[in-house]
Amino acid sequence: MTEKRENKPYLLVGFEKRLHRRDIKLITEIIIHCSDSDKPENDDISVIRSWHKVRGFSDVGYHFFLKKDGTIQPGRKINQIGAHCITQNAISIGICLSGRHDFTEIQFSTVHSLILKLMANYSILKDKVLPHNFFNENKSCPNFPLDNIWKFDTI
Ligand SMILES: [Zn+2]
Repeated sequence: MTEKRENKPYLLVGFEKRLHRRDIKLITEIIIHCSDSDKPENDDISVIRSWHKVRGFSDVGYHFFLKKDGTIQPGRKINQIGAHCITQNAISIGICLSGRHDFTEIQFSTVHSLILKLMANYSILKDKVLPHNFFNENKSCPNFPLDNIWKFDTI
């Protein structure tokens, strides 16, 4: 998600003065991202939070971050509007997998479980679980096909 961001002035729209609450009934989508970095030192939500604060966000823009070892790190609360997909923030949950090219099977299987839980909790349909690049063709994020996640479906 950080690729060539300096050339994308529309991202300035993302500046936030404060976090905004929302009615969780508005949530209809889950959007999958990557951190765009394979550096071990960036494999933690605290690093992503610092990047996002530099960009003017009040907090890390995602609701969840998946470390390479599969650990789920919580970001924003679900009832707080995210800052991860400019047109969809109000109605979506943002999940970021740590990585650019090298993702792990434990990340995919863990995020699969997380997604199923969120789909059940918030009545989100499977076809509303979408990659970031579905909404922005100039982005490659999340750099992997969602089939890497759906292959863990058991039915
Ligand atoms: Zn993204």
